[in-house]
Amino acid sequence: MRKPISSQTPSTLRSWLSSKEEREYRADQILHWVQRNHAANWSEMTNLTESLQSKLSGEFEFSTIKLICKQGSADTTQKFLWKLRDGQLVESVLIPASQSLYGNQSDRHTLCVSTQVGCAYGCKFCASGLNGFKRDLEPSEIIDQVLATERWHKNQTGATERIINNLVVMGMGEPLANYDKLMVALEILNADWGANIGARKITISTSGLVPEIRRLAQHSRQYRLAISLHGATDEVRDHIMPVNKKYPLGELTAAIEEYQQTKTGKITLEYVLIAQLNDSLDQAKALAKLAKRLRAKVNLIPYNHVDGLQWTRPDEHIQDAFLLALIAHGAKVTLRREKGHDIDAACGQLHLRTEKELANAPG
Ligand code: SAH
Ligand code: SF4
Repeated sequence: MRKPISSQTPSTLRSWLSSKEEREYRADQILHWVQRNHAANWSEMTNLTESLQSKLSGEFEFSTIKLICKQGSADTTQKFLWKLRDGQLVESVLIPASQSLYGNQSDRHTLCVSTQVGCAYGCKFCASGLNGFKRDLEPSEIIDQVLATERWHKNQTGATERIINNLVVMGMGEPLANYDKLMVALEILNADWGANIGARKITISTSGLVPEIRRLAQHSRQYRLAISLHGATDEVRDHIMPVNKKYPLGELTAAIEEYQQTKTGKITLEYVLIAQLNDSLDQAKALAKLAKRLRAKVNLIPYNHVDGLQWTRPDEHIQDAFLLALIAHGAKVTLRREKGHDIDAACGQLHLRTEKELANAPG
């Protein structure tokens, strides 16, 4: 099987070039085409000889993912469903800066990427884990979500400048359960010869894998951390997130504090508001206390309905009361009510719908 070009580095390419009796400086040209210019095929790499183009196409695969469905419009959230080489489906979400909590106000965009097919962590409210865990994504499959989205944009608009300047690792899967491959991918996405996305503009979201949060604390890059909390007490968290039985809140907060000793960026506590489950004012009070202790900002997300699950989002006045209680208790908080999440629901849901449609399709 051919190797993916997107996970090659200057040194792997240089040694391949010299084994093919080609000049090593070609590595920089190739990487520029792949990572920065978003060439769509080898023949677009006009400063390479035809013979090198043909050697490259014999050895390397241009993309490990194929777009099979896109939803949404340019001024809101757009979702991309990708088919991998083995037929599995994962998704990415492109969010304009005006709607992103993580980006700055500009014409740039945030991309939310997947790291696994399915998820083993089985949070009770989440679509990603409904069909269990299938496999980890390879570094190239994570990087290709960025490159293929950029290529798609270039194709649509003719614009040559890149649009993705923020990355949130919050798509399908538990990123820290695929730690090593994710770090390889992020190194390339962060590199100045790669996609050149600043480390502080990359946010990794986790349901709370304590040993990997500690590992991340020792990692040399300043990636940002978001914790999917969804319950401010063990009682509520145990009820909806099985991971809390393994790593209860006391252990999780200790790991976060260790992370904060080595990193400067603020962490985010993600809190999905689910009706009558975690939306009481007692939870708001406990959440505010935790957020202040961790100097974290809270991101409230009204629950997106998942077909087949019984949970619903609280009415807007309950969301507002929860928000106001957090503010009254001194927490820094945002409530995200963007449209994109309504049209097609949260990460992890597009693939479910499409899998069902493919299964029901005639022939
Ligand atoms: N596994 C990681 C990252 C992927 S989930 C994690 O759990 O953090 C990304 C975010 O989407 C998490 O905060 C998750 O709890 C949230 N989420 C999952 N299902 C949702 C739904 N139906 N509505 C709103 N947010 C949801
Ligand atoms: Fe997995 Fe995150 Fe969904 Fe939990 S919320 S099942 S960890 S993807």
